[in-house]
Formats: sequence, structure tokens, C-alpha cells
Amino acid sequence: MKNLKDKNLFREAGLIGGEWVAAGSGRTIDVVDPATQVAIGTVPDMAGTEARAAIEAAASAYGSWKKKTNAERAGLLEAWHGLMLKHLDDLALILTTEQGKPLDEAKGEIRYGASFVKWFAEEARRINGHTIPSPTQDRRIIVLKEPVGVCGIITPWNFPNAMITRKVAPALAAGCTVVIKPSEFTPYSALALGVLAEQAGIPAGVINIVTGMPAEIGNEIMANETVRKISFTGSTHVGSLLMRGAADSVKRLSLELGGNAPFIIFDDADLDLAVEGALVSKFRNGGQTCVCANRILVQAGVYETFAAKLSARVNALTIGPGTQPGVAIGPMINMAAIEKINRHVEDALAKGAAIITEKPVLPEGRQYVAPMVLSGATTDMQLAGEETFGPVAPLFRFETEEEAIALANGTPYGLASYFYTENLKRAWRVGEALEFGMVGLNTGSVSMEVAPFGGVKLSGLGREGAQAGIEEYLEMKSFHMGGL
Ligand code: NAD
Repeated sequence: MKNLKDKNLFREAGLIGGEWVAAGSGRTIDVVDPATQVAIGTVPDMAGTEARAAIEAAASAYGSWKKKTNAERAGLLEAWHGLMLKHLDDLALILTTEQGKPLDEAKGEIRYGASFVKWFAEEARRINGHTIPSPTQDRRIIVLKEPVGVCGIITPWNFPNAMITRKVAPALAAGCTVVIKPSEFTPYSALALGVLAEQAGIPAGVINIVTGMPAEIGNEIMANETVRKISFTGSTHVGSLLMRGAADSVKRLSLELGGNAPFIIFDDADLDLAVEGALVSKFRNGGQTCVCANRILVQAGVYETFAAKLSARVNALTIGPGTQPGVAIGPMINMAAIEKINRHVEDALAKGAAIITEKPVLPEGRQYVAPMVLSGATTDMQLAGEETFGPVAPLFRFETEEEAIALANGTPYGLASYFYTENLKRAWRVGEALEFGMVGLNTGSVSMEVAPFGGVKLSGLGREGAQAGIEEYLEMKSFHMGGL
């Protein structure tokens, strides 16, 4: 790991009020490379005291950050964006080493993460209020947009760069200051972003980063009245816990939670396009994405053909460490992930599914799973009800459009959904019938900075990206001028 540690972007300390600091207790946690299970280094195991100090630092930076002109804040975000692209290779290497995804995908994530910084730098210049026609002649009414205040930003391990920039960029653009609690599995990507923010000239205290195990840090962020908003991406379980914890201090919340995406192939689909889309949607990041196809629903007339085409492509995927050229499937994040995937596959096999892909020789290391296609999946299987979060593509057979829609919507989650058809009328019918925050028609990807990203039902509250993304960090103030 010497190589990585030589890099200026690699920090093993938290960031509070512009100081790089250890935990008051002196405790640290190891950060492990999922490809080797060897510790890359340590980060401070901070707790409530450090979270409180970070919140205070964010509060004291807030007044002057909020007073900067929008153009000044935009300029600093532009500088941060430029540095992310300049250091793309180093950021990607840090990301792959702590998270496991193939290096090319990590580079894609850095570009995607940086795109939010650029987008919200531009949006900062367009935080426009509006005027309201007064019901009486002696009054004028205007609506001002103001920042929410100090925000708690809690992020997962599967996109350790982009899940931060998708929140921090709009927060900063709006005039908020932040305390980031990155996943304990992937803190180095967050800390590297902190180094670049400093280099960009973003003032001390505007971005604070508290590393460590989540419970005590989370409790402080939830309870502290100075924090006016929590933006969280992660599991539905932790999201609902944060919602309860934030209730006493009546904080605003954005919750980007789990999904259970259906991926529907109708018998009038372009099958080659559908196979490409399924590969992207299902196998990117080893299937560890909230928007990944969890249930692939295939109409009976094309079921066998689609299964054969997809299996051929899956058989050709290379498994190995993310830093190895040509690798498509890296290691899974940890052993708990492997156990869940194995449990889902064993349950499916016991209930009548069959693996129709070849069994590859897995590389050294315990955290690899063979990518596979399972035929004969049914709704009583665990993988139909929960996110598998791994490279397992279960194929469900359906006969009619009504059946497909009922199957697709038969989940309490509502994040992403996908369907393939060449029929225009069906495209509208199905697109409107799917109860999800995002629908992809003839595409396996639905995330980009220009469009609102988010879910309905158990998949969460609020939207990220697009124009909507900055509103999540703005309050409206009605300003009435009377006696005119
Ligand atoms: P997780 O919920 O276990 O952890 C997410 C974050 O919450 C981490 O930083 C973790 O340390 C923190 N956390 C855990 N317990 C906490 C507590 N008591 N108080 C405060 N913080 C706490 O999720 P994960 O395993 O890191 O990520 C995978 C999940 O994230 C999946 O369910 C996936 O679908 C979801 N996800 C959703 C989106 C989206 O945009 N909707 C994007 C990526 C991932």
C-alpha cells in the first residue's frame, strides 16, 4: 500500500474546522482492501464528541459562507470540480482499493461525482426567488430562497465519491455547511475530497468529515438541534432509524434508500439492446448498486433466447481485483455481502431455480462471487423480495403485460425500474403504470446529474441532481411589505 500512502490525497485523519485530527480517544479502525482482506490503513474512530465539534465548526463557518455571493460559491465549486478531474487517476485508485470496483468503473464514478459539482456550481447562479401578486394594493410579497443551515451528510460504501458530491455540491451551492459521515468501509474517498476542497479554497469549517463507527456519530447528528437537515443514502433500515431520530428536533430529511428494481423484457423488445442494458444495470459494481436490476422479468416468447444471449455475455465476464486490467467483476465489499448473496442463491436453487451460466474459477481471496444467471425464478424466493446486492441475475417468466406490471409493482420499494419494448403505445402504458421514482425505457441506466434521482415508497424521500436537487437545501421565506 506504500504507493497509495505516498499520494497527497491519502489522509488517515478526520477534518474538523480546517484541522486534520485524530479521535479524542485515540481509537482507530482499519480500512480493508476487499480484494486482499489486508488493511490499507486506519482512520480515527470518532464518536459523539468529535461529531459535536464538527457541527460547531460547520455552524461557525455558516455565517460567512452563506453571505458569499452565489457567484463566489459557484467559483469555489468550479475549482473543486477542476481538481477532481485533474486528480481523477489517484481518486479512482483510492476508490478501487477501498471499495473493490474495477478501475475503469471507479474512473467513471469520479467523473459522475464531479458532474454534480459542476452542475450545482451552475445551479448556484440560478437560486431565484419569485414575486406573488398581492391581494391588496398596500402590500408587496416576495419569496426569498435561503440555505437550510448546517447539514448532516451520511453516505454508503457502494459509491464512496459520488454519493458525497451529489449531496455536498448542492448543499454548498445553496449556502449550507456540512458534516460528512462516510461509510466506515470507504472513508478514504471522502477524505481525499476534503483535501481537494481545501486546495480549491473552500474555507475551513464549510466541509467537515467525521470518520468512525456509525452509532455515536449518528446519534449526535440526529439529536443536535444545530443540524437542520440530514441527507442520507443507504439502507431503508437505517433511513427509517434516522427519520425517527431526527423527529425530536424536526429536521428536514432526504433519504435515498434501497431498491428492488424490475427489468422487464417484452417479446417485442430489441433483445440485443436488452442484453446490453441488463449487463450494465445488473453487473456494474458487481451488482452492488441501489438501482441495479434485481428481478429480470422476461416474456415467455423470448425467454429462452434472452436467457441464452445474456448467459453467453455473463460467461465472458472476467472476475478479479479491480486494479487488474480487463476485470469486469471485482470483489464484494465484505463477508456479510457474500453470505447474503449465497443465502439468496441457495434459497432459489432449493425452490426450483437453476444456474444456467458456467462456473468460473474464482481468483484467490474469499470475497469473490461468480456472476450468474438463474432461470426459473419465482416470487416466493428471497431474491424476489430483497436486494441481493451481488452479480446474480434471476429470470422470471411472464405471459401478459398486466402480469408484468403486477409483478414489477409487487414490492414495497420504488427506486428504479426498466423495460424494453419497440411498441410506442406499450411504452407509454407501462411507463405510466410503473410505481417507481425512475423508469428506463430501452436503457439500463437512469442516473445522471441533469435528471432527478430518487425513489417512492420504502425507497425514500426527496430527489438529488437536476434543479430539484438544490431545492432540498433551500428554505422559502415569504417577505411581506405592507403599508405602501
Ligand atoms: P447502510 O444503511 O448500512 O449504511 C449507510 C451509511 O449509514 C453508512 O455511512 C453507515 O455507517 C451509516 N449508518 C449505519 N448505521 C447508522 C446509524 N445508526 N446512525 C447513523 N448512521 C448510520 O447502507 P450500506 O450498506 O452502506 O449501503 C447499501 C445500501 O444503500 C443499499 O440498501 C442500497 O440500496 C442503498 N443505496 C441507495 C442509494 C440511493 O440513491 N437510493 C444509493 C446507493 C446505495
